[in-house]
Formats: sequence, structure tokens, C-alpha cells
Amino acid sequence: KKKVAFMTSGGDSPGMNAAIRAVVRMAIYLGCDAYCIYEGYEGLVQGGKLIRKMEWNDVRGYLSEGGTLIGTARCMAFYERPGRLTAAKNMILNGIDALIICGGDGSLTGADKFRQEWPSLVKELVSTGSLTKEQVAPYQHLNIVGLVGSIDNDLSGTDATIGCYSALARICEMVDYIEATASSHSRAFVIEVMGRHCGWLALMAGVATGADFVFIPEKPREDNWEEEMCQIIKQHRHWGKRKTIVIIAEGARDRHGGKITPDMVKNLLADKKGLALDTRITTLGHVQRGGTAVAYDRMLATLQGVEAVKAVLDATPETETCFIAITENKITRKPLMSAVKETQEVAKLIEEQQFDKAMALRDTEFSD
Ligand code: ATP
Repeated sequence: KKKVAFMTSGGDSPGMNAAIRAVVRMAIYLGCDAYCIYEGYEGLVQGGKLIRKMEWNDVRGYLSEGGTLIGTARCMAFYERPGRLTAAKNMILNGIDALIICGGDGSLTGADKFRQEWPSLVKELVSTGSLTKEQVAPYQHLNIVGLVGSIDNDLSGTDATIGCYSALARICEMVDYIEATASSHSRAFVIEVMGRHCGWLALMAGVATGADFVFIPEKPREDNWEEEMCQIIKQHRHWGKRKTIVIIAEGARDRHGGKITPDMVKNLLADKKGLALDTRITTLGHVQRGGTAVAYDRMLATLQGVEAVKAVLDATPETETCFIAITENKITRKPLMSAVKETQEVAKLIEEQQFDKAMALRDTEFSD
């Protein structure tokens, strides 16, 4: 029987449990044994109880649970070859050579590296006497498929990542709560949301809540942003708005790469010589990650989980490692490393303040 394993890695995101359920059940449905690796790559490196066979009923109720029920972790050992060597040994001892990983660009980079190194890892396990030739014989190739779990919606090549719509829904809900009190006291709120290189959450939350002003990393405001923001907010107040909401992504910067912080925005709004608004800062933090997944993320994770099992069973040593995307509402397979490379290149360009280049690159569609 073919054995298919699944793990979640990097930061958790709502919908990961739906992916676990879909992969486990699809693998069993297609006649395979399903395994879960607990605690991300740490589970592969440590082995033992962290690699567990899963039955159909083990994932009952997973759709409506937040976070990831099989745990996730950042694993330093996996960055180094000896860690990956131990991971390969544990996989072979468990009879696993098909692995589906749900995580961000880091986890997927690690996965691709592991797959590329696999033949040499297997050789080393034999040459060092860790495993015998007979033990490794059926496991000459490792097949890997990626699922993108991230609340930031920051991976190139897919319209949505598992978790991003849940985080967006949570932000909107929180802004609604804040608006009620803001309106009552005629206050201004500066709300910081997650997103170091990707302003999708901040921008979409701004659209969905009708925020007065939004800051995102990819499109820094012009040098006169302070006057512009105050002018717009003054106008909104003049038109009778009793509340002011400014949404700021963690990675917000000005044209010269200087960080724009919630404190800077607050001080401007509260300036006695200017708008003199009673202003508070709310950093939403981890509530954005927590809670259960919205219907969209459950649906996305389920459809993509099903496709991931098919893809990992279709994979051959010759095929390029793929990840499962959603493109114009269709579940698709795309080359993993092209997407990861483009994502990392965009983040680098944003760090270097080459915003137009970054946006042009993000807009190009790489080929399947
Ligand atoms: P998030 O988007 O939440 O940051 P991520 O998957 O990008 O998620 P990382 O912390 O970058 O999170 O990666 C998770 C784990 O993947 C790391 O702790 C490490 O074990 C493994 N990993 C990441 N990058 C590499 C790499 N270049 N080589 C080997 N392993 C890696």
C-alpha cells in the first residue's frame, strides 16, 4: 500500500485542519495509508510518536476547528543537511515517500530542497550504515506537493492562500466592534494588521470596512502623505462622519523606506494644532490567526487537499514539484519553485524600495 503523509509547517492559518481532513480521507479513499507528521519538520526529524498513521475517523470534526490540530513548528535542524538526513531515515523507516506540506514560502522551499537532495540522502544513509540497501531500495525518489497555508495571501501564482479569507473576516469583525465605540465617542482608531511584505489584508480590510485611509508596504504614500491623510479625514469629518478608521499594515513604509508606525499616525491625528482627534491605537495581533475558518477557506482547503493527493500520486521523478493553487476559481497545479522564487523576489524588491518593479513582477503570470 502506498503511504501518503501530510504535515503543517511555519505559521498556522485557519483552514489547515480542513486540509488535513481532506488529505487523510482522500488518501484512504484512493486505497493508500494516510500518515500525519506532527509539529512540522520537527516531527520528521524526531520521528517516533510524531509520525502517526491516521484513520478516517481520526479527522472527524476537523472542519470546524481553528489552528492546526497536528501542530506546527519552526525547526532549525531541518535547515541543515544532518537534520534532513535524519528526516529521510525516519520517512523510510515508516515507509513514506509521498509527502504533502501545507505552509508558507519557507516551508515549501525546505520541501523542495528535501526532494532534490533525497537521492543523495538515501545514498548517505546506506554508506554510513544507518540503513541497508534492501531497506532503501523501494524509496529511491521522494514526491512532494505543496499547499499554501498563510493568512497574508502572499504567495505568487495563486489567487488565495488557505487562511487569508478567515483572517480578513476576523479583521473586519474587529473593525466593526471598534467602529461602534469610535462612533459613540467620535474617536479615531489606528488599527495595525499583519502583513510585512504583502498589504492584501490591510487593503481588502480597508475596502470591506470603508476605512478612511490605508497604508500598505507595496504602495508607499507620497512624501506629502501626512497632509493628504489629514485633509481626507478632515473632509470626512466635515461631511458628518463621527468615526475615523486608519488601517496600517505591519510593513507600511514611506517612499524612502522609512517605517510608518501607528504611533506616527496617531500623533498626527491627535495633534492639537490640527485635527485634534481623540485617537487610540489597536494592534490586532494574533486574533487575526485564531478562531475557526470561514466557509471559503474550508472549501479551498478541502478542494486543494483532494487535488494534492492526486498530484502526489501522479508525480514521477521527472515531474517538477508542484503546489496546488486557485486561479480564476479553478484548482490548478503550478510549479512550486517558480512561485516561491517570485514571492521571495517580490519581498526583496519591496525591501529595496523598488515598488514598481515589485508590483510588475507580482502581476506577471508564470507559466504552468
Ligand atoms: P510563514 O509564512 O508563516 O512564515 P513559512 O513556511 O514561510 O511560514 P518559515 O519559518 O520560513 O515559515 O519555515 C518553516 C520551517 O520550514 C522552518 O522552521 C524550517 O524547518 C523549514 N525551512 C524553511 N526554509 C528552509 C530552507 N531554506 N531549507 C530547509 N528548511 C527550511
